Amino acid sequence: MDSLHTSVEPFSSHPLSPETIETPQISIVVPIYNEVESLPRLIEAIQNSLEQTSLTYELICVDDGSRDGSTDLLRKLAATNPILKAVILRRNYGQTPAMSAGFNHSRGEVIVTLDGDLQNDPADIPMLLDKLNEGYDVVSGWRKNRQDKALTRLLPSKIANWIIGRMTDVKLHDYGCSLKAYRAEVAADLKLYGELHRFLPALAVIEGARITEIPVRHHARQFGHSKYGLDRTFRVVMDLLTISFIKKFLTRPMHVFGLLGMLSLLVGVLSGMYLTFLKYGLGQSIGDRPLLILAVLLTLTGIQLFSFGLLAEVLMRTYHESQNRPIYRVREVVTTKNSKSQHLT
Ligand code: UDP
Ligand code: MG
Repeated sequence: MDSLHTSVEPFSSHPLSPETIETPQISIVVPIYNEVESLPRLIEAIQNSLEQTSLTYELICVDDGSRDGSTDLLRKLAATNPILKAVILRRNYGQTPAMSAGFNHSRGEVIVTLDGDLQNDPADIPMLLDKLNEGYDVVSGWRKNRQDKALTRLLPSKIANWIIGRMTDVKLHDYGCSLKAYRAEVAADLKLYGELHRFLPALAVIEGARITEIPVRHHARQFGHSKYGLDRTFRVVMDLLTISFIKKFLTRPMHVFGLLGMLSLLVGVLSGMYLTFLKYGLGQSIGDRPLLILAVLLTLTGIQLFSFGLLAEVLMRTYHESQNRPIYRVREVVTTKNSKSQHLT
């Protein structure tokens, strides 16, 4: 795909700014939550990397309710740096809504996302863009040498990657890597909520996208600390189950609930027959077999709770989508043109 490389002046001779370029070719989207120490280096590294290409670009940093001074720093930088647009959210919504806000403020033909903590290497961006040009809609980074804590991050990711691989038709090593490049029209089709940004490859493939993966660098966090704890990992797994469920079964819910119902009925009936046989066939008392009854009860309750949980989750999502409420709210957008900031609701 050569359209990205057509008739664009090199960066140095092109007075780039989000306002002067009607549509930049590339929009870089970075969610920022308490990354004040990383920000200056991050922006510099991104600009250095993109200057290696001849592409026009904008950098959209979405401040997701930071409390460490990132917001003020971003405001200041965006007021003087024509490349940078600061989208400041009203409060902390989470990485996925922040990315979604970035997507919605992007104008490029291609959107590149990465983390704001310098764990992803901006120097890898040109490589992703080259790969996209080979004819893909999404190129996903694969952190082959991931520098994160083994037990709390790597292990849950391994499990999540395995489950996603089993449940979807997309086979990637590392779904959760934030460093990705998308064709804008593909990103626009994706409905994001919860912690779903890490399932973007799966969602994109459902929408018919051509997707591939390339190894990228990964660095240990230098400043601040990871915002992920066990609670978030749990939410990720729940999102994963729901999305796989929606994809596979929502069109024919009875196929799932019918099967589960029949299985539990079968277990119930068999246990009942066994107990009946014990009582009337062998003349034994079934009153002193609480374990069996407990097992049956627990199995059935478990299946029912699980099914109801999934149904409730799907209903809740349908409700939220039917309400058409945004998953984030913007306080202000700062660019060089409106450094006094434009207030949006
Ligand atoms: N982030 C965000 N909102 C949040 C949590 C995180 O915008 O509520 C951003 C964070 O600033 C970083 C990226 O999302 O740029 C990834 O977060 P983090 O580095 O904590 O995740 P990890 O690298 O540990 O997976
Ligand atoms: Mg990180």
